[in-house]
Amino acid sequence: MAERVLILGGGFAGNAAARALRGQGLEVTLIDQRNYHLFQPLLYQVAAGDLQAEAIATPQRRLLRGADLHFRLGRVARLNLPQRSILLDDGDILSYDYLSQRRGRPLPPPFAYRDPGSMAVLGRFDAVCEIERWHLHWHGWSAWLLWLGLHLYRIIGTRNRLLTLLDWGTDYLRHGAAVEIILSPPNSSDP
Ligand SMILES: Cc1cc2nc3c(=O)[nH]c(=O)nc-3n(C[C@H](O)[C@H](O)[C@H](O)COP(=O)(O)OP(=O)(O)OC[C@H]3O[C@@H](n4cnc5c(N)ncnc54)[C@H](O)[C@@H]3O)c2cc1C
Repeated sequence: MAERVLILGGGFAGNAAARALRGQGLEVTLIDQRNYHLFQPLLYQVAAGDLQAEAIATPQRRLLRGADLHFRLGRVARLNLPQRSILLDDGDILSYDYLSQRRGRPLPPPFAYRDPGSMAVLGRFDAVCEIERWHLHWHGWSAWLLWLGLHLYRIIGTRNRLLTLLDWGTDYLRHGAAVEIILSPPNSSDP
């Protein structure tokens, strides 16, 4: 019987770990409290009304293709390391042979951080890029193109890339006149 691996958290780290274990003869289950992976770096654009929310969310089950990769929706309530099991808040207990914690928590030292650089968009066709280890600092349309390309590359899924490109394209053509709709919470007393 294949050994069971539980991966806690389906962000960048958890998904990368699950896909790296595909086809290794293991039974891999990724657990997340949400049924979708969220591309957080563009969250602010959803808040600003520049992108539709579905462009930065990808269903976990679509990402975890493979007979040996499974997804379990649930919130991890407790770890029982001596028993090699975890308790979900719906009361289910899952046992494992190997456990991988990827819940967006800081890793304990030693931890080697490699700075890949920083970039930020400044406006229409303008962004700033800094790659310290090559002493590169620049801004302008080439930095903007790099920002655009890198974000499109990093968003998971062709559909999400196309949705993002479409939203950005129409936004740039309309000079940023996005439709900003503020929704009241369901129990709001507002009319
Ligand atoms: C608004 C914003 C903008 C950002 N911009 C950038 C950027 O421009 N460049 C950059 O490099 N980084 C950026 N980051 C940081 C980047 O998103 C994080 O470094 C990265 O997401 C960390 O990945 P992770 O897999 O470790 O954790 P996360 O992506 O946080 O994933 C953790 C997962 O664990 C799940 N989880 C947590 N607790 C439980 C539980 N108890 N039970 C079940 N599931 C649980 C969560 O639902 C989540 O899916 C940004 C972050 C935010 C919030």
